[in-house]
Amino acid sequence: MVNLKALSPEELKEFIESLSLPSYRARQIIHRIYEKWATSIDDIKEFSWGLRHELSQYAYISNLKLLQRERAADGTEKFLFELEDGLTIESVLIPDEDRLTLCVSSQVGCAMGCDFCLTGTMGLKRNLRAFEIVDQVIQVSKIINPERITNIVFMGMGEPLNNLTEVAEALRRITQFVKISRRRITLSTCGVVPKLLQLPEAAPAVNIAISLNATTDEVRDRIMPVNRRYPIRKLLDACRAYPLEPRRRITFEYVLLKGINDSDADARRLVRLLGGIPSKINLIPFNPYRGAKYQRPDDERILRFQKILTDAGMTALIRKSKGAEISGACGQLAGRCSDLKDEPAPVHSGRF
Ligand code: SAH
Ligand code: SF4
Repeated sequence: MVNLKALSPEELKEFIESLSLPSYRARQIIHRIYEKWATSIDDIKEFSWGLRHELSQYAYISNLKLLQRERAADGTEKFLFELEDGLTIESVLIPDEDRLTLCVSSQVGCAMGCDFCLTGTMGLKRNLRAFEIVDQVIQVSKIINPERITNIVFMGMGEPLNNLTEVAEALRRITQFVKISRRRITLSTCGVVPKLLQLPEAAPAVNIAISLNATTDEVRDRIMPVNRRYPIRKLLDACRAYPLEPRRRITFEYVLLKGINDSDADARRLVRLLGGIPSKINLIPFNPYRGAKYQRPDDERILRFQKILTDAGMTALIRKSKGAEISGACGQLAGRCSDLKDEPAPVHSGRF
């Protein structure tokens, strides 16, 4: 059985030709899958009953299975989906003023082993296929209709640059068929430098976010093993060389870990490191989970860190830890596999 959702547009065209059907049939299928969220061949209303019946002999449309939907008090929603092989992934929907951002997963687990990230403790189970990435967008769109997803961030489970081929194909389908503009899509990476250099060609014009999280190689080596291969200097050189569109900036994410990377000296070093790069900084106070080694700095420290950056003329926002009580905030995603997660993470009562 052929899964129509898993086919690239070229493969779909070939498949349709192999059945001696006219090529506009492929366009109708694409329209139904990506814009009308068809869940079965029966939903392709442009096809006669006979054609749908015939097609069903050879093909089907897969669907991520929604296992759980949780909503936090701040409106953030987390969706737990099951893949065809029984593994699970999570997507998080974040409302924010006039935006509705979907945070998608690119892998089941992650191989990068960052010390502060729950997804990292799972290891990598497997890469997602392009259609499994796009289906997060399709399924959530269908669930929240008539509301509409306006932005997409690749900040869920996984390191998107370690799955670049499938991520690039997913981006192509999301932009061309789901019709969400590349300018409203952000890909976040821990800094896999060779892949970052390939990104402008593989996925032109998407926004990028770099999880920097430290200002010295000594600390970054310790909390983000990727740094041992691609140290800060190499990473920032790649950022400097990145072909940004006019008025676009690179986002630098900086998870604030109490006593590890949150000193005044860190803030000042961060200013120096990012000199010359069109950038904005997202400060993310550490989101705790059960068994975590790190703590969130006090509000006072966070504000002081931010002030050093803004006084130096940088744009630095403190990211609210949205959805923390449903373990939907950055670094808290682990699908169903985590025993660590059966107790809710403590919710901080700070100002953010
Ligand atoms: N692998 C990619 C994208 C997913 S992680 C990357 O690392 O960029 C998305 C963001 O969550 C990253 O910026 C990461 O630094 C941050 N993060 C991970 N664990 C966190 C935690 N426990 N608290 C706050 N942010 C965390
Ligand atoms: Fe992977 Fe990103 Fe988590 Fe690091 S922070 S372990 S790269 S998901």
